[in-house]
Amino acid sequence: MSGAGRKSEQKSAEAFARAKKVIPGGVNSPVRAFKSVGLTPVYMERGAGSRVYDIDGNEYIDYVASWGPLIMGHAHPEVVEAIKRTAEKGTSFGAPTELETLMAELVCERVASVDIVRMVNSGTEATMSALRLARGYTGRAKILKFEGSYHGHADSLLIKAGSGVATLGLPDSPGVPPGVASGTITVPYNDLESASLAFQKYGEEIACVIVEPIAGNMGVVPPKPGFLEGLRSLTTQYGSLLIFDEVMTGFRVGYGCAQGLYGITPDLTCFGKVIGGGLPVGAYGGKREFMEMIAPSGPIYQAGTLSGNPLAMAAGYTTLKLLTPAVYESLENSAARLESGFLANAAKHGVPSVINRVGSMVCPFFTDQAVTDYEGAKSSSLDMFNAYFASMLELGVSVAPSQFEGMFVSAVHSDADLDETIAANDEALRRLAR
Ligand code: PMP
Repeated sequence: MSGAGRKSEQKSAEAFARAKKVIPGGVNSPVRAFKSVGLTPVYMERGAGSRVYDIDGNEYIDYVASWGPLIMGHAHPEVVEAIKRTAEKGTSFGAPTELETLMAELVCERVASVDIVRMVNSGTEATMSALRLARGYTGRAKILKFEGSYHGHADSLLIKAGSGVATLGLPDSPGVPPGVASGTITVPYNDLESASLAFQKYGEEIACVIVEPIAGNMGVVPPKPGFLEGLRSLTTQYGSLLIFDEVMTGFRVGYGCAQGLYGITPDLTCFGKVIGGGLPVGAYGGKREFMEMIAPSGPIYQAGTLSGNPLAMAAGYTTLKLLTPAVYESLENSAARLESGFLANAAKHGVPSVINRVGSMVCPFFTDQAVTDYEGAKSSSLDMFNAYFASMLELGVSVAPSQFEGMFVSAVHSDADLDETIAANDEALRRLAR
């Protein structure tokens, strides 16, 4: 065993107290505050490969991976070098650079449904812009989304959302005008029949369906066979656009993203996280016919002072170049090792456990019922999760402080890291079973 584990938290507690005076809740994104797990948030100092180090000197094996982007691990030398090399030539111009075209070419080459792609600065911007495009293209106002999915914090998407909204139990955010909220139809994930009923009722008014092809914001919930296919045919039948939100799954679950895994062609795709290699990036792309509606080639407006930022393009491009098919094979093997280790531990300790996994997205739920939607995710034991989370942190494994998020295995988790994680899981479950 390495020296990983939380042995002291004094400096983190002091840093948090100071931050709370000048930052809402002390954090710039809610779940980081550890509110739902009732612990002091961990203030990070640095990361290297599979490990992170906090300001109290504690070391952890990290599966948060900055909530997904760091598929090549922390401070990957080639990514850092690319950022440095680019920064030396200037950090932003507000004029086009060739790096942006290189990046767009790479995305179009890997993702079959994407002919043309626009870079933005976050996943939220990507989904928000894709919705505007779908509404502008179809001339319709309503959208259909799924309960427990999270597509960023644009007004019309903050209805029955997952991720931090679920973690904090805030199903509908104040500040979203009722007129906007009423344009969002929400049905359970994996429930094609409800989606179909919604189309029967409102089909002519629905601009688009936005879906996480693998839900990652209610824990990890894979699509049932036929679900994505069904959405594809419903949207085609009613002249609505099918938007895959691959902000989390894009370049995470496979070389051709989730759509490559399942063989479905969406009309538009949103990206974020991995595509930025740890810098703030999002993107949306798709069929030329739709994307050419965006300004300046078309009338639908969307812009950004820092969009296509050179540092972000350099980090993202370098990361995508490192992600060969062999890397995805190795990620699959690593994550499968974790899954089988966790399952064996749960059986040994008699702890109710379901592990949902697609590629390097892994999520243990404390239940003995299959988890296929948000209701299922919510009915797993959140108290057990919170106790489990606290043990894992103390034992030196950093996972997201919420049941409604998965673990992200990276290409730099070694077999030794995985075995150490399985050993920590064994001890955490032993404590739970007591
Ligand atoms: N869509 C999905 C599927 C996401 O997981 C997230 C963030 N977790 C977003 C959109 C929003 O991305 P961002 O936080 O970069 O705005």
